Amino acid sequence: MDKFTRNYVDSFMADLIARNPGEKEFHQAVREVVESVASYVTAYPHLIDLKILERMTEPERVIIFRVPWTDDRGKVQINRGYRVQMNSALGPYKGGIRFHNSVNLSIMKFLAFEQIFKNSLTTLPMGGAKGGSDFSPRGKSDAEVMRFCQSFMTELQRHIGQDTDVPAGDIGVGGREIGFLFGQYKRLRDEFTGTLTGKGLAWGGSLLRPEATGFGACYFAQEMLATRGKSFEGQTVLISGAGNVAQYAARKAMELGAKVVTLSDSDGFIHDPEGLNEEKWKFVMELKNIRRGRISEYAEKYPSAKYYPGERPWRIPCDIAMPCATQNEIEEADARKLVEGGCYCVTEGANMPTTPEAIAVFQSAKLLYSPGKASNAGGVATSGLEMTQNSIRQHWTAEEVDAHLHRIMSDIHASCIKYGKEEDGYINYVKGANIAGFIKVAGAMVDQGLV
Ligand code: NDP
Repeated sequence: MDKFTRNYVDSFMADLIARNPGEKEFHQAVREVVESVASYVTAYPHLIDLKILERMTEPERVIIFRVPWTDDRGKVQINRGYRVQMNSALGPYKGGIRFHNSVNLSIMKFLAFEQIFKNSLTTLPMGGAKGGSDFSPRGKSDAEVMRFCQSFMTELQRHIGQDTDVPAGDIGVGGREIGFLFGQYKRLRDEFTGTLTGKGLAWGGSLLRPEATGFGACYFAQEMLATRGKSFEGQTVLISGAGNVAQYAARKAMELGAKVVTLSDSDGFIHDPEGLNEEKWKFVMELKNIRRGRISEYAEKYPSAKYYPGERPWRIPCDIAMPCATQNEIEEADARKLVEGGCYCVTEGANMPTTPEAIAVFQSAKLLYSPGKASNAGGVATSGLEMTQNSIRQHWTAEEVDAHLHRIMSDIHASCIKYGKEEDGYINYVKGANIAGFIKVAGAMVDQGLV
């Protein structure tokens, strides 16, 4: 990076931090993008004059609202709801809803910002947004979750619509929550539209949407592995998380011949040196999606596995790692352990699971490393396909959706190579994804004038 560009980045970041104090996840996500695209921006000075990066990092709209509800004891509870509508240059806002007690404005803004570039990479017409609440469904009854979702949607419905903003699931928002949210939207607006994605199959959902993020991450990893003449066959894979993304990443990795030896949740991880199989995977599905239990129960059921409370899986030797839980779950020391343990490929299923220091460890060791905005884009891409099916009132087969998903992931991989290949041949997927995503959004913003 030349001196002029370095100064541009430093002064841009200083302004951003001053304007958005204390929002450390947002600063982290913006810095990663700005570092990648700065040389492109300074090479096209009209992008500086038009303040494209300043506009991209200022949300078009932030909605923050009170969510009152009553728990099963009849006590009043108050949570805070958010929708950050970040950028609509490419289409209606699109992005998930997260229900987790850690949710705050910084996390919402980082996720909405990442979503702009991810959605751009999919090539589908979708802008970037994210929403959620500091409400955690963990430990709540179905009735409490329903009352919360109904109250949340009572406010949110004013701000969304099939041509305006189409939310989906994320951490803590799966099929059950999408059902309650959709029911309340329909009741208040008196319309049956595709305003949420991740819907049930009988009421407008798409085949393969639940599988899409995890499957897509594996398809992306396959492309990365192929650049080194490798595949999943016979490889040992670490997966973190045990939710939607982790479940289907594990499923596809197993199908492709890998041995998946870990899963985790926020309390700890399980290590099963024999690897998951069909029966064990079904047990996890039932445990997490129906009984809503803890991953420690896996080790109680299967003696081949051991449970490590309060730990993350990254010290276990492996070939491939797929972080599929949450942001900043791989820190520098974890990254070093992964490299020491023989890991040569890290494919992110989660959003921003790797800290900047840990990314530097992977890149200097020349690992295959893909950022979530590229490798987990299969989820939102399939949400886009769900919107298409809703619009044309048709239902595609699983094979049709899978073929679209496969093509989109391999196109994203090709874009990363186009913009991320370095002089020594190393593919910098972070740079590739950020530049490819940015160019399209910046072009659309220039075309649409100062809005
Ligand atoms: P789920 O709620 O289904 O699962 C989340 C999993 O991660 C759970 O096992 C959860 O454990 C664990 N987890 C959550 N927070 C933490 C934490 N702070 N520390 C450790 N573990 C944690 O969510 P998803 O699988 O849908 O999402 C996982 C990641 O993938 C997120 O980063 C999300 O943004 C990203 N993503 C999801 C997409 C989707 O389609 N669902 C699309 C693209 C990205 P516990 O049960 O203890 O909470």
